[in-house]
Amino acid sequence: MNADALNGQHRVAYGDEQIVFNLRRQPSRVVTRIAIHVEPDGRVEVDAPASAALADVVAAVRKRSRWISQHVGAAKARLAHVLPREYVSGESIHYLGRRYRLKVIVQADARPVAKLRAAFLVISAPEHDPGTIRSALDTWYRDRAREVFTQRLAAVAVPLRWIRHQPPFRLQFMTRQWGSCSTSGRLTLNPWLVAAPREAIDYVLLHELCHLKHHNHSRNFYATLSRHLPGWAQVKARLDEHAELFLRR
Ligand SMILES: [Zn+2]
Repeated sequence: MNADALNGQHRVAYGDEQIVFNLRRQPSRVVTRIAIHVEPDGRVEVDAPASAALADVVAAVRKRSRWISQHVGAAKARLAHVLPREYVSGESIHYLGRRYRLKVIVQADARPVAKLRAAFLVISAPEHDPGTIRSALDTWYRDRAREVFTQRLAAVAVPLRWIRHQPPFRLQFMTRQWGSCSTSGRLTLNPWLVAAPREAIDYVLLHELCHLKHHNHSRNFYATLSRHLPGWAQVKARLDEHAELFLRR
């Protein structure tokens, strides 16, 4: 059977639960063993070498089903108490890992604009319309992101020999990803990443810059990443824990 035909959703029973996972076959030179990931939103992704039999993948998932079930449960519990934004005064806004309060000021002649003032992110708007406030907030995040990412990309790239010129990046609001790197070397970064502490931003930028050397998640990719940021796994774990908060809208 064509290995690609096995890609996609599969299920394994665990007690009276169903573990649903998404199988992604990868060329054997990229992925050398079966790896199970629980994403921050509770999705289960399984990477497996193209040569692995489905029975082996299922056995690997079954063997770790207790661990998977616990992590999926924790992810769902975290999501449950993160409510969607209403764009009203008092809501929390995160920037560089610090928490600010949203303060909406309605002024008939105001052009919708957001500004940081001490512990508040003040948004002036001509009327209290969630759509207007949301777009002023998005503009503010985008402006901060452009500023912070430009500065941090320059700093993070200094020791990386394979980077000759600072790579261009574009900004795109995304709900499941902090960044990506195309095979042609173009970086796409999520403006909401500026909500996270600087060390998390640096980790994501370094991860994407390492893709300019290795266009995959191979062992060599992780070796390069670890050489430049030995503690990346802890930084990533802390970022994942806060993902729902930072990606909230
Ligand atoms: Zn990557």
